[in-house]
Amino acid sequence: MIRMSVRRRVWGAAVPAMIFLCLLVFAVPSEDTVLVRIEKTDAERIPVEMEADILIVQELRTSLIAVVPSSRWDGLAGLGISGKVLDGDADGKAYFLVYTPRPGDPDVLKKFGTAVSLDERTCLFWSGAAEAREILPSVFKIKRLWLDRQIAWSRPGKAVAEPPEARADVLSDPWITGWVAKVAKVNLTASIQSLQNFKSRYTSTGTCQSAGTYLYNRFIQMGLSCSYEPFTFSRSSISTRNVIARLPGKKYPGQVVIVCAHYDSISDRPVLLAPGADDNASGTAAVLEIARVLAGKSFEYTVKFICFSAEEWGLYGSENYARRAKNRGEKIVGVINMDMVSYTDATRKKLEIYVNSSSNWLGSKFIQTAATYAPLPIAKYVDGSADWSDHWSFWDYGFYALCGIESAADWNPYYHRTTDTLDKLNLNFCVSVTKASLATVAVLAKPYTATAALSGPEAWSPNAGFFPAVSRGTAAISKEP
Ligand SMILES: [Zn+2]
Repeated sequence: MIRMSVRRRVWGAAVPAMIFLCLLVFAVPSEDTVLVRIEKTDAERIPVEMEADILIVQELRTSLIAVVPSSRWDGLAGLGISGKVLDGDADGKAYFLVYTPRPGDPDVLKKFGTAVSLDERTCLFWSGAAEAREILPSVFKIKRLWLDRQIAWSRPGKAVAEPPEARADVLSDPWITGWVAKVAKVNLTASIQSLQNFKSRYTSTGTCQSAGTYLYNRFIQMGLSCSYEPFTFSRSSISTRNVIARLPGKKYPGQVVIVCAHYDSISDRPVLLAPGADDNASGTAAVLEIARVLAGKSFEYTVKFICFSAEEWGLYGSENYARRAKNRGEKIVGVINMDMVSYTDATRKKLEIYVNSSSNWLGSKFIQTAATYAPLPIAKYVDGSADWSDHWSFWDYGFYALCGIESAADWNPYYHRTTDTLDKLNLNFCVSVTKASLATVAVLAKPYTATAALSGPEAWSPNAGFFPAVSRGTAAISKEP
């Protein structure tokens, strides 16, 4: 009896204790993550054993944005690695980088949500449940910040290994000369007009969907194989498609040269009217014209002609492509992205090329190729946080990419307005850029000849600057070689 009563007393105390312990386990929240900004020079000093927990998600000019468990962040501070907490509770939020061209813009942003100034003309922005594009004025450029991936970033003072393509001289090839001569202003003009005729290519609209179908049909008419890459994005789950045409390589079909442009548009009244002639029917027309000329030609490498959607919402289309390309191990030799390549003022006709440090060779190759086949004034800028377009998504995944864009000095005054129309454009400039881009694609993809077919296989090195994307907690973050 006594034993029974003792037992009963023991159980009487143990059961509530166990329930309490269970409740405690379930009640303890998973550790908070913080969004921080770390100087690149400090990031180099993060101890190896802590790297797996610190996910670098964005490169800025001299610093990085990282996602860190809060306990790890306290530890880093103890090691003398300084930084700034941008948001103390990063769980479940959607962050955007926003380009703020004018001095008062950060204050404007604060009307719509939380804004923290980063580099000159760049803010970090987040807001309740809203998708940034749906609430911010059209003049702001947007890049969605992804917190689930480790990006590639350039390390100050570190030499960058270059691929074999970087060292090859650009020699004049009569085939390429002949193809360059086929680029026709009348075709570029007609394509820009056709795209403008959709009234709006704002990604959430049915007319943007129709523009995608139009592009698909154009590639099919050229005899190219073509497919859609559908994806869903934003907090309101908008469905859209990238359009991807292919010219399979004759010798190394697994190696890919990409020429691309975004076909979606925006304006201050985007659902009603967003002609987007310069931004970016011009780049899309260039991709179509390069595809028209090169369709049916033979190259050693595969050429992909890609029209991206949802660039204006935060580079969603190219992020979707680059993420999948990384996951399937696609070997991308180089990406030529064209965004706004047809506006110049009366005097200036300069193309700007933006590269990160590992893609610097690609910018040099473009300049060298343009000088050989289609001379035009070009200025090159090396900055891993520069220029807001689809090449940025490729940089994030460690691929070589460049952006060609008209000179910022004579910035298009109709940018992101309902007045961005064909009549404002300089089609001769668009012809020059298209020719230089076509020649660069051809040089990179290597015209396939019988002589070339007889030579042995060449070693292809994957991106030297490659930095594998990993999810936090699944693998250690590897160092760039
Ligand atoms: Zn654009």
